[in-house]
Amino acid sequence: FLKGKTALITGSTSGIGLAYAKALAAEGANVVINGFGDADAIEAERKALEAASGARALYSGHDLTKVDAIEAMMAEAAAAFGAVDILINNAGVQHVAPVEEFPVDKWNLIIALNLTSAFHTTRLALPGMKAKRWGRIIQTASAHSLVASPFKSAYVTAKHGLAGFTKTVALEAATFGVTANCISPGYVWTPLVENQIPDTMKARGMTREQVMNDVLLAGQPTKQFVTVEQVAAMALYLCRDEASAITGANLSVDGGWTAQ
Ligand code: NAD
Repeated sequence: FLKGKTALITGSTSGIGLAYAKALAAEGANVVINGFGDADAIEAERKALEAASGARALYSGHDLTKVDAIEAMMAEAAAAFGAVDILINNAGVQHVAPVEEFPVDKWNLIIALNLTSAFHTTRLALPGMKAKRWGRIIQTASAHSLVASPFKSAYVTAKHGLAGFTKTVALEAATFGVTANCISPGYVWTPLVENQIPDTMKARGMTREQVMNDVLLAGQPTKQFVTVEQVAAMALYLCRDEASAITGANLSVDGGWTAQ
């Protein structure tokens, strides 16, 4: 149902972002993927997306902590496809440390990538969406856009900010056929989660098994990690015309975490 539409997904060489790209391509959308990683592996994914969609897939590997790089990525997408119809702001990183020891460069990186990059992509994509009177802006926020956990100050701050930004965009775009929503996953099994286990072990003095069961899944009543496919399915639904009344929402896909 997305033939003729173009989707740009930030941070889509891995994890949740790659799952969004696969889901949207399977519906026939052109996709622009972004993120870091091994060049051959990324090219293989790009080709697989084209094979799945019968449309085009473009890789734009810019570092989204930099404004000029974001502008370059959006210009590449516009040059290839005219405009972006579906923007998914998904790139994000985590760092785990107490506030008083939190490295200043990590704070700045997390705010730049997890929050500010979404402002830049949105401001650059919105005019084209408004002109077409159709658009979808979807953020991968987090349960941490609704509640906090200790030792994740920058991430929780960025995700709460992203939730507020999204509500504002939803109001500004409401009469233009453009919706803006957050998807807020609980713990999804991806490299981002796997990579924070060693730091959490250090910060809390725990074993790997204790971090998995007593920290990560402690607050997730289903006691299961969310899958990337479950998150991508929500994004796909938001792209449907049936979802045109859903805007400014923060949709939890968190195994019941934020129900507590
Ligand atoms: P991931 O590490 O698998 O993917 C992150 C992606 O961002 C990768 O493609 C990476 O190359 C890219 N990236 C990193 N730095 C970048 C930069 N400077 N510029 C451009 N791209 C960059 O992680 P994931 O778990 O799939 O996370 C995706 C999003 O989901 C993040 O915003 C994260 O906060 C959010 N999220 C994840 C979970 C979870 O449990 N995994 C839960 C809630 C929210």
